[in-house]
Amino acid sequence: MNIFFDLDGTLIDSRPRLYQLFQSLVLNSELSFHQYWDLKRDKISHKEILLSKFNYSNEQYNNFEKKWMSEIELEKWLQLDTPFEGIVDLLMRLSKNHSLFVVTARQSESTALSQIKSFGWENIFTKVLVTQQQQEKHSLIKDTVEITPEDWFIGDTGKDIQTGKLLGIRTAAVLSGFLSKKSLLPYQPDIIINTVLDLNIDKITNRKL
Ligand SMILES: [Mg+2]
Repeated sequence: MNIFFDLDGTLIDSRPRLYQLFQSLVLNSELSFHQYWDLKRDKISHKEILLSKFNYSNEQYNNFEKKWMSEIELEKWLQLDTPFEGIVDLLMRLSKNHSLFVVTARQSESTALSQIKSFGWENIFTKVLVTQQQQEKHSLIKDTVEITPEDWFIGDTGKDIQTGKLLGIRTAAVLSGFLSKKSLLPYQPDIIINTVLDLNIDKITNRKL
């Protein structure tokens, strides 16, 4: 079967990158890492945070958003990303019997590919699918891979769960990323697990959830 993995927050911990970038763009922010992520995991958007806590105008917010998108994949920030511990062993094990894919909404395909290479993962995945913000994840998958209802999509956001559901495949939400359990529950994933490492492959393969 095919297993589709989101990248940020699912296979790698991108939280330090996002927090540090936020701090660098919002000079008077005294939010701690945990305070920032408590807000984000409750699905409070940057716009809400900046308008309510930092008195940003809409124009200031728009400038923030532009800078955010232009800096978020810069090498200096990407260097803060780290794979979740133990993930490579899991991926190696899974790749023996299944086709593994990364599906990410990153803007830059080349940067995503070189980051995956830097982790030594280049031979694990059948393909790395990067939307480059030109296409939705589900349509990119549909265009590239022949899917079956036994396949899985594993990700950390509501959008990831919606992607799996739009494709008619099974979905696992992980709590290692950008959203809390409370924020993910309304999307009704088939399973919710703390991290990808909690994926019980025998169970998912035998469809015993
Ligand atoms: Mg993600």
